[in-house]
Amino acid sequence: MTKYIFVTGGVTSSLGKGIISASLAKLLQERSYKVTIQKLDPYINIDPGTLNPYEHGECYVTEDGAETDLDLGHYERFLNTPTSQENNVTTGRIYQTVINKEREGAYLGKTVQVIPHITDEIKRRVMLLGKKGEFDIVITEVGGTVGDIESLPYLEALRQLRRELGVENCLNVHLTLIPYLSAAKELKTKPTQHSVKELLQAGIQPDILVCRTEKPLNKELKQKLALFCNVDQKSVIEAIDAKTIYDVPLLMLKEKLDIRVLKKLKLKTSQNVDLTAWKEFLGRLKNPTHEINIGLIGKYNELPDAYKSIYESFVHSGASNECKVNVLPIHSERLESDDIESYFKSLDGILVAPGFGERGIEGKIRAIKYVRENKMPFFGICLGMQCAVVEFARNVLKMNKAASTEVNAKTNYPVIDLMEEQKSIKTKGGTMRLGSYKCKLEKGSLAYKAYGRSEISERHRHRFEFNNKYIEDFKSAGMNMSGINPITELVEIIELRDHPFFLGVQFHPELKSTVERPHPLFVAFVKATLKNKLNEKA
Ligand code: GLN
Repeated sequence: MTKYIFVTGGVTSSLGKGIISASLAKLLQERSYKVTIQKLDPYINIDPGTLNPYEHGECYVTEDGAETDLDLGHYERFLNTPTSQENNVTTGRIYQTVINKEREGAYLGKTVQVIPHITDEIKRRVMLLGKKGEFDIVITEVGGTVGDIESLPYLEALRQLRRELGVENCLNVHLTLIPYLSAAKELKTKPTQHSVKELLQAGIQPDILVCRTEKPLNKELKQKLALFCNVDQKSVIEAIDAKTIYDVPLLMLKEKLDIRVLKKLKLKTSQNVDLTAWKEFLGRLKNPTHEINIGLIGKYNELPDAYKSIYESFVHSGASNECKVNVLPIHSERLESDDIESYFKSLDGILVAPGFGERGIEGKIRAIKYVRENKMPFFGICLGMQCAVVEFARNVLKMNKAASTEVNAKTNYPVIDLMEEQKSIKTKGGTMRLGSYKCKLEKGSLAYKAYGRSEISERHRHRFEFNNKYIEDFKSAGMNMSGINPITELVEIIELRDHPFFLGVQFHPELKSTVERPHPLFVAFVKATLKNKLNEKA
């Protein structure tokens, strides 16, 4: 039977429920349990696909094309297993299902209410993953903070599940903050006591407390928390601030979070935890022999979460090259007027980020012209690739005012254009080209060398694409289409010869980079950039 763990958060938001959930899952996975993690988000949007990255950070896309919360990225990066549509559910989605059923007449004249109809739908969505028969343990992270109005139906569903399944099958891990008051030189337990009271009010006695803290928790403090919050002392787990999120599984192992969880779920703890590969990764991450500076040219740079998976991909690929990658965000709009040279002096390579709309486009195009001409390594993702195509059209093929029709619908040279199947689409939510598609690589190309094979599959999230009408013009001028979708013939990868590294991809490689499987294109980009830097110095 599948066991369920709910991770709730107390006191403040941003305590890192996603990382704690992923770390716990990692340890359980290392003990040979099949684990998946689900995120419940208490907002009314059906999914985060329509949310501005400034509001909510990056929108993470799964293999099966769900637009999801960025925490799913952490789950995949830690567990090295894919998530799916079922792994992220919002309040909007829950209500949509219930309201659709009501319209169908499925409730047979009953008054439709939060309890039981909304809570039943929440429970169904949680159990759906368990019923697949693929997982021993489902960890469900409840978004928001205990005490929020929006979280109440989720807590009520959790209360009911604990009653129905029994506490040994349905556990609550409560993540909370123990603030340090420097004036008093003391760690304070009161906010945690209050947040546990909130949970008790919802009918839930937490089983395990995971306490975020800047300073170690001493025995007395753990005793106090145990007494006031009614948990056993061994179940008060310290989660001290870590240098990198990738340290957290080891910290949780040391604190025996996995053992506590397994004991409470009445599961075997005998298997050994083998984190050798993980530790090797950390060793390389912390002891780099080289260093490079990559400019991340984007427009949401104030909020690093908007490019979360890109930053993490550089952590993975940097470690695999034993190279520290300093990612320096550069606002594309600044490059439109400012002296572009000054920005590039300290850089060894650039990545032009994905994005939507007109703002900052010309800055991205100027940056690409600079790195193409000055032979600085370039990696373009989605919009970044599209900008490289536009730049090449304008400056090499001399197609005056060539553009993507996303920016200029009237251009004489629509080198990037709306995909055929997108032309009739009017609604915004969930209607892009989403999820995983196959791509065939040209033998001998940069991409082929990076992947080491000729068939790959990568995740997408876009409406526009390379306009195949121009394919021969580009090829004859030196831009190579090295990756093509074998069914639709859409161009997926472009690259330039006679350049240390110039590659653009229509898909999102950053979504598939994990600790144990750093993405081959990021690995190749870091490697080429480092090589180029060392050559220039020599
Ligand atoms: N705006 C572009 C498109 O829709 C690129 C999207 C992206 O970078 N994810 O095609």
